[in-house]
Amino acid sequence: MLLSEMYRIPWTKNDNPNGWIEVTTECQLDCSGCYRAESGDDIRDPVEQMRRLKTDVDTLVAMRNIQTLSIAGGEPLLYAGLEELISYARSKRLATRLFTNAVLLDDATLDSLTKAGLTEMIIHASLWQERLTPNTMAELLKLKAAYCDMFRANGRVRLGFIEPAMRRFWDQAPLLFEFYQRNSDIVSNVVFTTFKDAYGGPADQHLPIEEVGEMIERCYGTSPCAYIPKVHHPDKVAWLLNVAVLQDGKVVGSLSGRDYGAAQEQYRAVMGKYLFTPESDDLVTGLGAEPQSEEAEQFSELMRALRASVNHQVVSVVDSPQLLDDGRVDMCDSCPDAILYQGELLPKCILDKIKGGLEVHIAR
Ligand code: SF4
Repeated sequence: MLLSEMYRIPWTKNDNPNGWIEVTTECQLDCSGCYRAESGDDIRDPVEQMRRLKTDVDTLVAMRNIQTLSIAGGEPLLYAGLEELISYARSKRLATRLFTNAVLLDDATLDSLTKAGLTEMIIHASLWQERLTPNTMAELLKLKAAYCDMFRANGRVRLGFIEPAMRRFWDQAPLLFEFYQRNSDIVSNVVFTTFKDAYGGPADQHLPIEEVGEMIERCYGTSPCAYIPKVHHPDKVAWLLNVAVLQDGKVVGSLSGRDYGAAQEQYRAVMGKYLFTPESDDLVTGLGAEPQSEEAEQFSELMRALRASVNHQVVSVVDSPQLLDDGRVDMCDSCPDAILYQGELLPKCILDKIKGGLEVHIAR
């Protein structure tokens, strides 16, 4: 993992494509390592709740220059106003990304969310999640396969999966990556998070981001193309991105740091903001960007020729904040998942600790 060969994602606090919003803190599950506790702050009046959420969307657009509204919780499918909120975000020309445990997801719900304008759904389905199933990797893959079929039938909403990288199942991780590759016609986004004390996770399950990244490199045969550093250790990685290019479920290439950077910079030049959730396969073809080198031109040509049968899959790892010995919090630079709380952008993963008195501010 050579930082010099990767694109250093340049997002800042106020020029950052991701806006994070939580529609409820309620959830049916009690997953190991979840950072969000049910909060007494939830607004019970539905009219006032919708007004506040729309105001937050407007503030995120104005304050942060977002491209995507990430909608989370708690469990967002428990919130009755979800479709209206998605439609509102779309009216502001935002992509929408929904983080859900999918317990309440069925064809009719997906259809309604599609009609409201949902761009992408990221499903958290993992082991040790306090659901009845899955309890084994085989059951987990069966559950994920059922979601893949549901999204294939839908055909319009992008599908991703998120899960914590836990030491107790990591020897089985190659089965997961093999599954994601085999289903790359429909799975475009795979996210792992790491457990840490600061995140509320059991410390003995923590895997360093380097170890997770090495497993991805080994299973895909590709190198990472982009990263976000830690705020107090710029030589350490907080977010690590691989973009694999697959055909018929097999990895046939990947984006280099230069390719990924060209796509981001071109999107920023044309759209006036950075890219978080592509609405098509434009990430692979550099969003129509002029190739920056002979290799990139060949790559673009290859991609154009293969476009009909090629898929891309973003595989990323997010390393949650580290509490340093001197009391500082080593978080992700610019905190792409920052949430608005009392008018300030704050890291959502340690919001409950901030409410409890932890002093943290997003510097840049
Ligand atoms: S610091 Fe921000 S970006 Fe990093 S894990 Fe926490 S919320 Fe996500």
